[in-house]
Amino acid sequence: SYSSRRDILDFVEENDVKFVRFAFCDIFGTQKNIAVLASQLPQALEEGVSFDGSAIPGFMHVEESDLVLRPDPTTITILPWRPTEGRVMQFFCDVERPGRQPFGGNCRGFLREVGRQFHQLGLQCNVGAECEFYLFETDDRGRPTRVPMDQGGYFDVAPLDAAENLRRDICLTMERMGIVPQHSHHESGHGQNEIDFCHAGALKTADNVMMFKQVVRAVATRSGFHASFLPKPLADQAGSGLHVNLSLYRDGKNLFEGDLTSDTVAGQFMAGILAHSRELALFTNPLPNSYLRFGCHEAPRYVSWSRQNRSQLVRIPQAQGDSCRMELRSPDPACNPYLAFGLILSAGLDGIRNRLELPAPVNNNLFDPAAAEGLGLETLPESLEEAVRVAQESEFLARCLPEGLASRYFSEALHRCEELRQAADPAEFERTRYFC
Ligand code: GLN
Ligand code: MG
Ligand code: MG
Ligand code: MG
Repeated sequence: SYSSRRDILDFVEENDVKFVRFAFCDIFGTQKNIAVLASQLPQALEEGVSFDGSAIPGFMHVEESDLVLRPDPTTITILPWRPTEGRVMQFFCDVERPGRQPFGGNCRGFLREVGRQFHQLGLQCNVGAECEFYLFETDDRGRPTRVPMDQGGYFDVAPLDAAENLRRDICLTMERMGIVPQHSHHESGHGQNEIDFCHAGALKTADNVMMFKQVVRAVATRSGFHASFLPKPLADQAGSGLHVNLSLYRDGKNLFEGDLTSDTVAGQFMAGILAHSRELALFTNPLPNSYLRFGCHEAPRYVSWSRQNRSQLVRIPQAQGDSCRMELRSPDPACNPYLAFGLILSAGLDGIRNRLELPAPVNNNLFDPAAAEGLGLETLPESLEEAVRVAQESEFLARCLPEGLASRYFSEALHRCEELRQAADPAEFERTRYFC
């Protein structure tokens, strides 16, 4: 790794790097960046890079707008799709107030801190993400259309699957950046695909999700297609999820191996996530459109868990050894992965600390309304408005969220709801506004 200043500058020199992107994301998970000329890098490493926080959604009020980017040297990557002469390198950054003061909108810092709380209990939580997305055709001016690139379905092969070369490019690009994907396949929707990552620490996986979306968009654009991470881009096709797989280690032992009961740490961890899942929704599912995905095409609606089927919010996949884990199926790829993972992990921690009761598994197929009825199960929020209400009332979130972040996040979410209400054609507005 390139931990010292000298190492970083050597890397820049040896790789003919001309631009260094300082990347971060706003509280809603949209990636932002500023490119620093390589010649100016020594100063930027020394002082950080200042920017106008008031221009980033949800970051700052105008009266106190200066923020500073501090690159994390462990996140150095070359962007392989950019020119090979005069290369472009990228760092993920933490965001601070001037004078090295902490900033509540620094979601990487928030997730790192949650990781520390696990360490204090002698635990390590690993996260693996499965990211689904759509590929659409573009028109003769390169603008996205609503026409999916193929008519393929789950695990299809060419010619039904027209995306094999694109997925290949995505995986090879990621590999060159040191991020090795585990699987890639066509998903059930027309033009829908999925790529899964090997599990890693939560912060690493969150960085990988950001990187992944950037790679997918770049590779798709280069090939004349449009990639969309909108949770429900087509009304009659499956939505796109970001399944989050979680495992828990103590002294090198995976606690998801073996029984899951209220007496086990893994069972309590899972109980915490189930108990807080409605409060988490605003952060795991941040768009009005997110709520169109739930309840059909293998996306959950009820708060429940099972080892047997995919209609549940939490599934325990058939697996052995290191692969034993729980899968949380509510998150979607529009989320800010730092905030979403940080809060999911905090919910698990809350379950462990308070020894929360794990409800009995539900083995019915909950996509069948008759089977779901009468079980008295809670449901995920049905709209972004409801998710905001649930979150505003949450004592758990008030305790966990960084100072100042909650109110900014709530008002931005309500703004999104209002914008949609004002739109002449809400469905069309939403697809256009968040289509990437
Ligand atoms: N696309 C589904 C979702 O929205 C998941 C389908 C699957 O991975 N089997 O979560
Ligand atoms: Mg999958
Ligand atoms: Mg899938
Ligand atoms: Mg899955």
